[in-house]
Amino acid sequence: MALPQIVIVGGGFGGLAAAKALKDTPAEIIVIDRTNHHLFQPLLYQVATAVLTPSQIATPIRSILRNQKNVTVILGEVTGVDKDKKCAFVTDADRENVPIAYDYLILATGATHSYFGHTEFETFAPGLKSLADAEAARNKILQAFELAEAEDDPARHRDLLTFVLVGAGPTGVEMAGALAVLVRTGLKSEFRRIDPASARIVLVDMAPRVLGPFSEDLSKAAKARLEKLGVEVRLGHSVDHIDADGIILAGERIASKTVIWTAGVAPSPAGKWLAVDTDRAGRVRVQNDVSILGHPEIFVIGDTASFEENGKPLPGVAQVAIQQGRYVGKLIHGRLAGSTSVPPPFSYFDKGSMAVVGKGFAVLQTGKVHLSGFGAWLTWAAVHLQFLATSSLRLAVFLQWIWTYVTGQRGSRLIVNHHGSEQLKKTADTSTKVAVASK
Ligand SMILES: Cc1cc2nc3c(=O)[nH]c(=O)nc-3n(C[C@H](O)[C@H](O)[C@H](O)COP(=O)(O)OP(=O)(O)OC[C@H]3O[C@@H](n4cnc5c(N)ncnc54)[C@H](O)[C@@H]3O)c2cc1C
Repeated sequence: MALPQIVIVGGGFGGLAAAKALKDTPAEIIVIDRTNHHLFQPLLYQVATAVLTPSQIATPIRSILRNQKNVTVILGEVTGVDKDKKCAFVTDADRENVPIAYDYLILATGATHSYFGHTEFETFAPGLKSLADAEAARNKILQAFELAEAEDDPARHRDLLTFVLVGAGPTGVEMAGALAVLVRTGLKSEFRRIDPASARIVLVDMAPRVLGPFSEDLSKAAKARLEKLGVEVRLGHSVDHIDADGIILAGERIASKTVIWTAGVAPSPAGKWLAVDTDRAGRVRVQNDVSILGHPEIFVIGDTASFEENGKPLPGVAQVAIQQGRYVGKLIHGRLAGSTSVPPPFSYFDKGSMAVVGKGFAVLQTGKVHLSGFGAWLTWAAVHLQFLATSSLRLAVFLQWIWTYVTGQRGSRLIVNHHGSEQLKKTADTSTKVAVASK
């Protein structure tokens, strides 16, 4: 008899946790992802600020699952789902919309950037969600210093060395702190015409405080730390406009060649594929067993699901995705083993939240415990190492962090423009335009 087929879309935190929870299940499991790697998104900002290399935070999905014989990994993009025919459509480099049949479907397709309706901002303020985004941000940041060093007119150094981060949530705060450390220590004594430490780093948000999801005392501690590192924190105003020359904030132009979007996220289009009820953000509203209404064989987990607990939707964090992945894996395993009992509803165990602010400082909130400083940073480092996908990554990242902590040197300061001279030319073109306009 043919084995039941379980299709998991997404090899991120949720999808991988589900696949691993099904390791002893007599089924054929197909994991489909549009990239060949599992990405540890919480450390993306360290690739963007040159601390880590891309390969230190990502691992091929098939390598992670190589010992799990019931899993097949497919590189392809899911473009839709037919709930009646029970198949997902997959497009790869060779073929379009190939149907893949399922008995159980787990959608764990994560989220992408949201520009809150201002899609025109994207060209000038790229986000940070994938490895390619992080490499592009790193190129942009490092290139700004190169352009400034090559620029004869010191009046232009200020614009080139102004970095704006839009969004003061955990990603924006971590990125601003890491950037401040990079300009003050990582690039020290390497330039002759410019002083990298004179770079201006501006963190903006419409919210009244940084790190919105954290308590007020930790939010204050993080802001004070950022300011100590020289970061300008501008709160309470939304960005009116972004273009090649910078941003307009509350009517004031902040000239900058490097604007990075660290604000909102939008879920994947899973809700559209399934034609089901979604919340205002577009996340699929799921039942208390994380399945969708009327289809006990379809589950939506992680960032792309809206699961309400105590009247509030769970946050889009890795722990939610991992715990939902494990829950669904166990639930399907039980059903295939013949269990007829109704499983207990999914319940989230909140282990707490952390964010790093520069070197050797983090904020940590778990239950009533609120910590900030070096101890919180050590906990942050230990927890993040533990959640990296493989032991080799854990060792590589651990050694790199010690090296960077002691010497200030970074893991990867290469500017790798995949479209080579074209990218350099684009940056040069916009710089020339500004120079001409300012004459
Ligand atoms: C910069 C950044 C920093 C973060 N920091 C933290 C942190 O410190 N702590 C924390 O808990 N959380 C953090 N998060 C959030 C956390 O990473 C997410 O909550 C978590 O990744 C969600 O897991 P997921 O499985 O739902 O989605 P993901 O891990 O995003 O995985 C989704 C997968 O689906 C694949 N995919 C998407 N669409 C398709 C498609 N159509 N076809 C095929 N494959 C598809 C993607 O390639 C990806 O591999 C951060 C996120 C970002 C972007």
